[in-house]
Amino acid sequence: MVQLSRRQFMKVTGSALAGSSLAVMGFSPAVALAEVRQYKLAATTVTRQTCTYCSVGCGILMYSLGDGGKNAKLSVIHVEGDPDHPVNRGTLCPKGASLLDIINSPNRLLKPQYRAPGATEWSDISWDEALDRIARKMKDDRDANFVEKNDKGQTVNRWTTTGMLAASAATSEAGYITHKVARNWGLLAFDNQARV
Ligand code: SF4
Repeated sequence: MVQLSRRQFMKVTGSALAGSSLAVMGFSPAVALAEVRQYKLAATTVTRQTCTYCSVGCGILMYSLGDGGKNAKLSVIHVEGDPDHPVNRGTLCPKGASLLDIINSPNRLLKPQYRAPGATEWSDISWDEALDRIARKMKDDRDANFVEKNDKGQTVNRWTTTGMLAASAATSEAGYITHKVARNWGLLAFDNQARV
């Protein structure tokens, strides 16, 4: 005779009862157990991006829920390293691995802001307004201060009164193009956060 402890007896009779009850209701535990487990990211949209934090510029995959319907709001539910990215090959440091927190942070800045001269508060403005203001200021400054020739009459084409700091969260190719644009304007003061 098989000797069962009280705990073993409860386990055996409990699972037998659960199995028979499910079978009576039309569910077969065997079928349920044989079912292929759904991949939790199967219904998500994947977006390739670059980690926003540092100059290493690791590639990331962002998975978001939402079927693209008008009223369905996409929300990022998972971030992982991009295995096809040449920089990190799927790996992320602890900061990159916690990117979901910055994406969903209530403190994250989502719109351009402007603080008028003398004002103490920042106010939201539209992207159009922000870009128009930046373009206007740059054009006016360049028109007023562009240096075509130096004292010796040599062509220098310099614009020294405006500087530019590019973000590190860009690919090498985007950085290269940004550099070309800045130098075409004649900007001398140009740097990238990747060096910071
Ligand atoms: S994952 Fe880490 S190392 Fe890679 S870019 Fe982000 S912060 Fe830098």
